[in-house]
Amino acid sequence: NNQEKEKEYEKLYLIQDYAKRFFIYQLHYTKEGQKNGLNYFIHKRGFNIKIIQKFELGYAPISWKLLTISVLKQGFKIRDIKKSGITVFKKSNYFFDCFRQRVMFPIHNLSGKVIGFGGRNIDTISSTKYKYVNSSESNIFQKSKILYGLFQAKKNILKENFCYLVEGYTDVISLHQYGIKNVVSSSGISLTVSQILLIKKFTKNIVLFYDGDRSGIKASLRGINMMLEQGINLRILFISNGEDPDLISKKYSFSQFRDFVAKNSYNFISFKQKIYEKFHKNDPIKKSFLVKNILNSISKIPNALQKELYLQEASKVLNIRKKILISELKEINEKYV
Ligand code: ATP
Ligand code: MN
Ligand code: MN
Ligand code: MN
Repeated sequence: NNQEKEKEYEKLYLIQDYAKRFFIYQLHYTKEGQKNGLNYFIHKRGFNIKIIQKFELGYAPISWKLLTISVLKQGFKIRDIKKSGITVFKKSNYFFDCFRQRVMFPIHNLSGKVIGFGGRNIDTISSTKYKYVNSSESNIFQKSKILYGLFQAKKNILKENFCYLVEGYTDVISLHQYGIKNVVSSSGISLTVSQILLIKKFTKNIVLFYDGDRSGIKASLRGINMMLEQGINLRILFISNGEDPDLISKKYSFSQFRDFVAKNSYNFISFKQKIYEKFHKNDPIKKSFLVKNILNSISKIPNALQKELYLQEASKVLNIRKKILISELKEINEKYV
């Protein structure tokens, strides 16, 4: 029943909060944490102490059991620890901490409670370890329904009335430190409708700022129709291969960043056209696919006036008469009736 559930959730919040404070303590007050974790954040990532504190970053030591044993000492039961996803249980007396020798990014819900973690590998020698691991999903932590950084960004999203959407934890934190505080991350999973609805609580305007590599472009393309369907006003940043927002914040001064965004952001039509140009120069068959792809996106726009304006824009960008586009669009619409 409900009361039981709430009691269970309260315990999960307490365990996550304990783990958060444990990781923070390890980062700042142990030799290992300072040497491996703090060093990494400050010297490898360029984070300052203020931002490290603001995002409550931490460090998970190399030990196999320290966190779980500390949590047990607090009086939490194995049953609850199992549900929290901070420990891997093989048998009841054989278990180990999920996060070992990693820098830790706590993930907050909208009201600032920690509900899970991402941990990054710092051991650059052993490439067999995953770069990032996350807490396993729990009753309070569903990756598809949260956005990393939203708790820290929400006030600024309201103020600016738009929001940058990036891929990674470090993108959020670096931009924040840089002075751009209206930024959230889908933390590497492909964008979901729940996440778009979360942003819509604060703004309808999104600037998509994914990595400039193949997977970043793919993820951008995948997200476009979903956002259009939700009535989002969308701009997309097109950046060079190998770059991501974290690196860009280190390359440009804050005042140059404005110009950078202005020069490199596109509406979805020009964005798709740019990608087409990059891969296929002047191939009519390929171009017909591009046209259909763009029209398919336009068909998702719920607002009739906006649809009309984007059709005009498409006609201009693609250099195809609007009459032709409209008849193609009709075909697309009929397919889905
Ligand atoms: P860094 O700058 O530290 O190398 P990044 O954020 O640029 O990290 P990407 O490889 O671009 O890393 O991945 C983007 C995001 O995807 C990460 O921040 C993380 O949230 C998520 N991610 C990446 N790899 C994994 C993984 N193996 N498991 C879970 N999440 C992952
Ligand atoms: Mn990437
Ligand atoms: Mn990246
Ligand atoms: Mn990066």
